[in-house]
Amino acid sequence: MGMSQQVIDEVMEIVKKRNPNEPEFHQAVMEVFESLKPAIEKHPEFVEAGILHRIIEPDRQVIFRVPWVDDQGRVQVNRGYRVQFNNAIGPYKGGLRFHPSVNLGIMKFLAFEQTFKNSLTGLPIGGGKGGSDFDPKGKSDGEVMRFCQSFMTELYRHVGADVDVPAGDIGVGSREIGYMYGQYKRITTLYNGVFTGKGLTYGGSLGRKEATGYGLLYFLEEMLKEKGQTIAGKTVIVSGSGNVAIYAVEKAQQLGARVVAMSDSNGYVYDPEGIKLNTVKQIKEIERKRIKAYVEHHPSAQYHEGSKGIWSIKCDIALPCATQNEIDGESAGKLVANGVLAVAEGANMPSTPEAIKTFQDNKVLFGPAKAANAGGVATSALEMSQNSMRCSWTFEEVDARLKNIMVTIYRQVSRAAREYGCEDDLVTGANIAGFLKVAEAMMAQGIV
Ligand code: GLU
Repeated sequence: MGMSQQVIDEVMEIVKKRNPNEPEFHQAVMEVFESLKPAIEKHPEFVEAGILHRIIEPDRQVIFRVPWVDDQGRVQVNRGYRVQFNNAIGPYKGGLRFHPSVNLGIMKFLAFEQTFKNSLTGLPIGGGKGGSDFDPKGKSDGEVMRFCQSFMTELYRHVGADVDVPAGDIGVGSREIGYMYGQYKRITTLYNGVFTGKGLTYGGSLGRKEATGYGLLYFLEEMLKEKGQTIAGKTVIVSGSGNVAIYAVEKAQQLGARVVAMSDSNGYVYDPEGIKLNTVKQIKEIERKRIKAYVEHHPSAQYHEGSKGIWSIKCDIALPCATQNEIDGESAGKLVANGVLAVAEGANMPSTPEAIKTFQDNKVLFGPAKAANAGGVATSALEMSQNSMRCSWTFEEVDARLKNIMVTIYRQVSRAAREYGCEDDLVTGANIAGFLKVAEAMMAQGIV
C-alpha cells in the first residue's frame, strides 16, 4: 500500500493548502480517499493519468451577488454559489441549498459527494451543487420569490437541461423551484428540463418528492435482508422533519416499523405511540412551523430542546435525515450502547468520521449517504428522461424504477466491498464503486 498512501497524502496536502478553512470539504475528500487505497493499488494507470489530482479540483465554481428587496423596502444582499464539480459521466446534477450556514466549503463537499453518488445511480449524471446563505425561514412568499428571481437572474447563464440541472436540498422545495424555474423560463424562453423537483403541473415527476426517503428505506431493506432481518416491527428514529425525513418515516411505517421520534434544528419530539405523520406534514409542509408544534396536537408526545438528544432514544434503526455531522462520536456511542442494529444516512455526511468508526467497530450495519440517499437524485434523472421524452410515467412506474435502482446500488456497493477485501464495509464499497466509474470515464476522455 506504500505507493497509494503516498499519493493520497500528497493529494490531501494539496486539498488542504488550496482550500483553507473548508473542514467539511477536507472531511469528505479524506473519507473517500481513505477508502480508495485498494482500488488505486489495482489501477496504477489512474495515478499516472493524474486522476486523483484532477478529481479533487472542481471543473469550476461560480460565486455571485444576490440582491433583493425585503417587505420593508430594504435592500438585502446574499451570496449565491454553484460548484460544477465533475461532468465526466453526464451533465452536472445536484441540488441547491438555501441555509445561513452555506459557504464555499460546504458547497464543495456536497458537490464532491454528489459526483460519486450520481455515479452510483448508474444514470448519466455528473456532480454539482449550489445554493445561498439566504434563510427562507420566516420570510414571506413575496420575499422568497424576489430572492429566487434574483438568484436565477445570475444562475441562468451557467445552467441548462444538457449542461447543469439543479434541484432542491435543504431550504429549497417545490415553492422555491417553481419561482426559479419561472424566472429561468422568462429569461431564456427555454422549456422544462433545466430543473428537477418541479411541480406536477409543469413537468415534474410523480414520486420525486418521496424518492429520497423511500429510496433510503429500500436500501435499508436490502441491507437488513442480507442479515436475515426485516424492517417490520423495528423501532426507528428519524432526525429532521424536512422532505427526506417525512418520506423516510412514511415508507418506514408502510413497511411496518414503529417510528418514535423526529426533530428539527431546535429540538426533537418523542412519541412512544408512534409519530402521526399527517400532523408532521400539516406542520411542516403547509404551516411551515417548527416541529415543537407537534405536541399541541398530541399531548402524549414529549418535546425536548436540543436536536442532539434524539440519539439517546433507544431504537433498532437510526436514520439521520437532517444535515451534515449531526451524529458525532458521542451520539454514535449512545446509539451503540442502546443496541442499535442499523444506521442508514438520508442526509449528506450526517455522521462524523468518529461516528462512522464507532458504528463499524461495533458491527452496526451502516449505509453511507452516497449510496443510501441516492434515490432522490436518481429519480431526478428519471424526471429528466421523462422531460426529454415529453411524457410522464405513473407513480407506480417511477417507484418501481426507484426500487430497482436502490437494490442495484446496494448490490454494486456490497460487491465492491467484497471484491476489495472489506466485506460488509459499505463505506469503502460505495466510495470505490462510485469512484471507479468516474475515473474510467475521465481516463477515456483524455487529460481534461
Ligand atoms: N439534493 C439532493 C441530493 O443531495 C438531490 C439532488 C438532485 O435531485 O439533483 O442528492
